[in-house]
Amino acid sequence: MTKTPYKIGVVGVGEIAKNQHIPSINRNPDFEFAAGVSRHQKTEGVDNFTAIEDMISARPDIDVVSLCVPPQVRYGIAWAALEAGKHVMLEKPPGISVVEVESLARFAEQKGVTLFATWHSRYAAAVETAKNWLADKKITDVKIIWKEDVKHWHPGQTWIWQAGGMGVFDPGINALSILTHIMDVPFHLQEADLAFPSNCETPIAAQLKFAGNDALSLTADFDWRQTGPQHWDIYVQTTEGEVHLANGGNDMLIDGKAHFSADNAEYDNIYARFAELLKSNQSDIDLMPLKHVADAFMLGKRSVVEAFEE
Ligand code: NAP
Repeated sequence: MTKTPYKIGVVGVGEIAKNQHIPSINRNPDFEFAAGVSRHQKTEGVDNFTAIEDMISARPDIDVVSLCVPPQVRYGIAWAALEAGKHVMLEKPPGISVVEVESLARFAEQKGVTLFATWHSRYAAAVETAKNWLADKKITDVKIIWKEDVKHWHPGQTWIWQAGGMGVFDPGINALSILTHIMDVPFHLQEADLAFPSNCETPIAAQLKFAGNDALSLTADFDWRQTGPQHWDIYVQTTEGEVHLANGGNDMLIDGKAHFSADNAEYDNIYARFAELLKSNQSDIDLMPLKHVADAFMLGKRSVVEAFEE
């Protein structure tokens, strides 16, 4: 697919679509924002539809779609888009189960279209620098601390508390997407403790312990009850010093000293990558972060904690 700009429809016009996807699409000359699909929201300056099927029949010229709906409804919409021969970008997490995303991947391949399962945190400013720095080092210890205030970051989002919404893994999977990208050695989940509010179907906190092939220590502490300073930190200790990815992967310190920092351009980078995939007729689907989360739900010990009230 080489003709640009690609006419693109955005499905699910909520927080992330309004704040990141649409501005990044509008900044990228390879795309032309052509339609919004939303049950409640109208986007100025483009055609608006309430269901993807309506967009598909009314605007056959739109051949690319970006799905920004919650994960629980993504599969059906993605399937409809692929069936109509559209190229599809999926927000993270790409689905509510590993196998449904594998089905989408197979279907995209059969249809000869691009499927891009995005991990926006992998496009944070310092992630590639950290990956390159770590490439020839021996990693001994990794600590992920991902603690934020759910009331501040996810007000009114009921889907995060419903099965498939993933609870604290909604942000936690971002940390895992970075780690699985920057670490070249395999690791797997060994233990997990998940804390479920008594009135919710998904956890508000999770402590994970992973094992590697050698004497690697790797833990993750995800918590949505954090007030005060917020933490999106990954500390990677090597035999030659420590990398600290801070601020969600946008800042990098070595042995506590600032090494690299840049403005967050995650979504501009995602759309640049999407254009590259479309031009070369390729897909990009890495399920490893989702597999670790699925393992946590499969293996984790569950405790019930205080009900969550917004
Ligand atoms: P959101 O603000 O709740 O928006 C989701 C939109 O999807 C809603 O506005 C809704 O629009 C539409 N939708 C369709 N079916 C829905 C359903 N059954 N339940 C709820 N909404 C439905 O969510 P968001 O924060 O944009 O997150 C969307 C996806 O982006 C999630 O997978 C999330 O993990 C990911 N993400 C979010 C952020 C962030 O900071 N917010 C960052 C990165 C990634 P209509 O009601 O108008 O149809």
